[in-house]
Amino acid sequence: MAAKNKMDKISRITRSENMRRIHSRHTKPELITRKLVSQLGIKYRLHPKNILGSPDIINRKHKFAIFVHGCFWHQHTKCKYCHLPKSRKSYWTPKLRRNVQRDKRNVALLKKNGWNVLIIWECQLHKPLKAKSRLTRFFKMVYAVRNKH
Ligand SMILES: [Zn+2]
Repeated sequence: MAAKNKMDKISRITRSENMRRIHSRHTKPELITRKLVSQLGIKYRLHPKNILGSPDIINRKHKFAIFVHGCFWHQHTKCKYCHLPKSRKSYWTPKLRRNVQRDKRNVALLKKNGWNVLIIWECQLHKPLKAKSRLTRFFKMVYAVRNKH
């Protein structure tokens, strides 16, 4: 029981942390992602104004866009950090559902316009090596496709 309470407390803290960070730029997960991308020797720009859904990291020439998503705010499926608060469910459920729908729409439209899109989830950055190999695979794909043209 004590352990469960502790977990509740941790998830409460994580959640309020997430809420505080809503819409903020240069968050910790984003900084980790940028660092990993730089380590791979990839050039990029941050927060372009006129790109749909304003991805966090982009490269127009190579047409890739990376979103760094908070697990709660963007409702990472089956992730332990995405749980809805017990209180004010009627407020959070539709709000978060709208976020998810907007994300889906943006990604679909970007892809339709020839962008390669990668979503990095906050929880995936807890294991930087794994995150790095995901990024490596993504860039291999991006550059292989681009070189064919
Ligand atoms: Zn997650």
